[in-house]
Amino acid sequence: MRRSTALQLTLLITLLNAGILLAPRLSLRQSTQLRVVFLDVGQGDSCVIQTPTGQVIVIDTGNRSLDGQDDMGRRVVAPYLRSQGVQRVDLLLLTHPDLDHIGGADTLLDRFPVGMLATNGQDRQPNQEEVVKRATQTGVAVHHARQGETMDLGGGVVAQVVAPIGDDVNEPTNSHSVVLRLTYGASSLLLTGDADTAEEERILQGGTLSSTQLLKVGHHGSRTSTTEPFLRRVAPKIAVISVGKRNPFGHPAPATLERLNRQGAQVFRTDRQGAITCVSDGASWTCRPYTQ
Ligand SMILES: [Zn+2]
Repeated sequence: MRRSTALQLTLLITLLNAGILLAPRLSLRQSTQLRVVFLDVGQGDSCVIQTPTGQVIVIDTGNRSLDGQDDMGRRVVAPYLRSQGVQRVDLLLLTHPDLDHIGGADTLLDRFPVGMLATNGQDRQPNQEEVVKRATQTGVAVHHARQGETMDLGGGVVAQVVAPIGDDVNEPTNSHSVVLRLTYGASSLLLTGDADTAEEERILQGGTLSSTQLLKVGHHGSRTSTTEPFLRRVAPKIAVISVGKRNPFGHPAPATLERLNRQGAQVFRTDRQGAITCVSDGASWTCRPYTQ
């Protein structure tokens, strides 16, 4: 029943030669704003994007404990979506197979109709294999995001897949993170997953990455991400760090904070400020933390 309802509700998501098109939603929220919420999922990433024409895109889903008891999808992401009146997720994109990014994916697939699941292609990694299997079993299309692809997310929001670069699905998961650059009018957003120095270097060598106003800082502010040359190229005005309180990795690294500071970026962090909501009017971003 649920599956057939999901299929009926499914708005056309068409794979075009040039990329993916999420068809506009006719009866839902219409506005002139692009809204991006970086949820507080502790040590992990999860970001919810709502386009001006009501499409809902979830990028990563937070962590899940190994025994499955503590699941950020169940504890944070799904309740947040419900609180926003979200009935379905048009696109669920998982940047890479690490559990602090895909831990809540099973919950979302169970609780919401999902238009499409996009991954970085490392679908043989144990956790990701399970998620892809569950998606396939419930009739959700699975797409392998590739560099150079564009996704029309609707309402004038376009995403470009900046990485992963190359097809080596056996490389370390962080180095194969999906890096996505969104534009809405003149405003821009770069989502980097856990991209590390190696991936940042490859992106820079590609030479196509433009400066971007809002940056989701790579790998929770790790020292080995957000390198100086990468930061100079991106030149963000605002940087958001998704990171857990008292995490055992020492994220965010003081050196990364210092680099962001030197760049002059306004920094928000989920461990101290809770969820960070950023809204674009098509020109620039205004970000507001849950707690000041
Ligand atoms: Zn991570």
